[in-house]
Amino acid sequence: MASRAVAESTETGCRSSIVNDEIFAFCGSPGSLLIVTDLETIERVAGWLRESSYTVVLTGAGISTESGIPDFRGPQGVWTKNPGAERAATIQNFMANRDSRVRSWQNRISNNTWADAQPNAGHIALATLERKGKLDTLVTQNIDSLHLKAGSSQSRIIEIHGTVRDFVCMGCGERGPIERVLDRVRAGEEDPPCRTCGGILKSATISFGQNLVPEDLERAERAASECECFLAVGTSLTVYPVALLPEMALRNGARLVILNAQDTPYDQIAHEVISEQIGDVLPRIVDAV
Ligand SMILES: [Zn+2]
Repeated sequence: MASRAVAESTETGCRSSIVNDEIFAFCGSPGSLLIVTDLETIERVAGWLRESSYTVVLTGAGISTESGIPDFRGPQGVWTKNPGAERAATIQNFMANRDSRVRSWQNRISNNTWADAQPNAGHIALATLERKGKLDTLVTQNIDSLHLKAGSSQSRIIEIHGTVRDFVCMGCGERGPIERVLDRVRAGEEDPPCRTCGGILKSATISFGQNLVPEDLERAERAASECECFLAVGTSLTVYPVALLPEMALRNGARLVILNAQDTPYDQIAHEVISEQIGDVLPRIVDAV
């Protein structure tokens, strides 16, 4: 039988677990941050959110890793470890290469990561912040739909990198629920063409080499440049043009708060930087609003 014991040290902020006589230390690795933000900081950030008449929240991969969604660009990211997979994910490759489309659809039906993922305490806290009337625009770099599942309003969400919920035809632009295409793949079509124009179908995500939807970017930029409080959650703030949004907010005199496990280029000029695990700290902040 497995022996299991957990020891916690309040002095070092580290915790170690003994499982089958092996010791696992949990200091500093993402997903197991043991920093606990002091009450004063929580109250200060909550106060800024309370006072703000227009708040923008930007979320990135870091909010969804606690829901089991793989991070692509983090230190342990899928693409950090395997740059070849990143090159294969380009739009040019997808459009030119039937094999990569067949592989991509096969991956979708054999891997339930997207369909099974559930929102975590961080997503739910943002939906609560909206219900409190304190979240006006939610820009997300995530394609996982978890904000919607958590109860955030579709009208307030800008999915700047698209969504895995839908498909889009690269020929005529027709769009619909991805399940319709996945059903055809399950029924044996390897690379189902558009039923209207015969064009190539793809999930409605923004691939490498593909432009963002101009209206989405404009909406996000307008919101950032008009807001009074800008909260960046689980994003490294290094992927452009989204990484410019905090700068627009600062130029408008907004408060900038960063919740992220790793450093970001904005840490020195942000009004507050919090490195605690998002699912732990964000509900505390929202409760205090
Ligand atoms: Zn079409």
